[in-house]
Amino acid sequence: MNININNNFDNVSENYLFSEINKRIKKYKEEHKDADIIRLGIGDVTLPLGQKVVDALIEASKEMGNKDTFRGYPPEYGYDFTKIAVKNYYETNKVNLDLESIFISDGAKSDLGNIVDIFGDNPIYIPNPVYPVYLDSNLMSGRKINYIEGYEANNFLPMPNDIKDNNCIIYLCSPNNPTGATYTYNELDKWVKFALESNSLIIYDSAYEAFIKDNLHPHSIYEIEGAKECAIEICSFSKQAGFTGLRSGWTIVPLELESKNHSINKLWKRRQATKFNGVSYPVQRAAEAALSKDGIKECMDNIDYYMENAKMLSNLFDEKGIYYTGGKSSPYIWFKCPNGMNSWEFFDYLLENVNVVGTPGAGFGTFGEGYFRITSFNTHEKTKEAIDRLRKVL
Ligand code: PLP
Repeated sequence: MNININNNFDNVSENYLFSEINKRIKKYKEEHKDADIIRLGIGDVTLPLGQKVVDALIEASKEMGNKDTFRGYPPEYGYDFTKIAVKNYYETNKVNLDLESIFISDGAKSDLGNIVDIFGDNPIYIPNPVYPVYLDSNLMSGRKINYIEGYEANNFLPMPNDIKDNNCIIYLCSPNNPTGATYTYNELDKWVKFALESNSLIIYDSAYEAFIKDNLHPHSIYEIEGAKECAIEICSFSKQAGFTGLRSGWTIVPLELESKNHSINKLWKRRQATKFNGVSYPVQRAAEAALSKDGIKECMDNIDYYMENAKMLSNLFDEKGIYYTGGKSSPYIWFKCPNGMNSWEFFDYLLENVNVVGTPGAGFGTFGEGYFRITSFNTHEKTKEAIDRLRKVL
């Protein structure tokens, strides 16, 4: 073949983090057949779907098998019943959304990756460390990247102070993956003011908002005044309702967003109508059920289970006086590797000495070097056992 390919892919580094982790575990197991390894690197939910969601899936599937209730292609932007469920969900945080601004997706990752389609060249600002999709999707479309840096002095919550550009696209993720750090109302207000003053757009990833349990941290950027004029919000049913295997999320593109006489909402509609054919009916019924009163209760029971693990893990770091972020409004705990070890050295150290596996912070960006991410998605029993083991070596 002799076709030209998208050379921008040459700038995207191999996604080797999890394959390298698995390679090291495999090698260790070959040499230590009886090793009882505990995985605190799990980035996926482990508890099953709630009963309301399962009932809705079964009911909707039956409808699909009946001549009178069968449905074909769903609307590209989502059924009204799902959009209304999202709208009502936001109302619990006193955010009023136009139904037209809500787009039901097959998960946050798709929309985070696809949103670049509707923008031209602008200065792009991406946190470091962060969930890699923002970076890779911009690199694939040939964009140059600037970083907003997270470190201990800003508690891994970059602020706009160092941005000199105007007309930027800025990615924010709160509660953050991998650091678990979460913006307060006040901090997010500064970002919104900056975006408005500099004619910039914020792409706000709120995939972990359901883990916020206090009144200090907003669940949605639209709780901040002015955000509808400067922010797109992308969220997910994955961690909130255990939909990682079912696939659904939502994106809010406010009608107020305009640039150079273009409605951003119309551009996104146009993009979706061309390249996306909607989320299946049973999954949208399941999503609707997840946002019902009883459905939310079931989701919260699962989140509470994970957060109990997060609390036990945070207690260990408090007890040891080790710097960490997360664990309060997030299933992730991000801590400094002891004795100046770098992230991979510490990975090997934990694997070899206590058979506990986590995720090296360096895999999330250069500013993650020297840090480590562990998660609360394992069982209480395994998490407790891992804590006992960690206590001996931290
Ligand atoms: N955003 C963040 C910050 C994530 O950590 C993840 C998944 O790990 C996603 C988005 C992807 O969510 P989804 O499963 O809805 O595609």
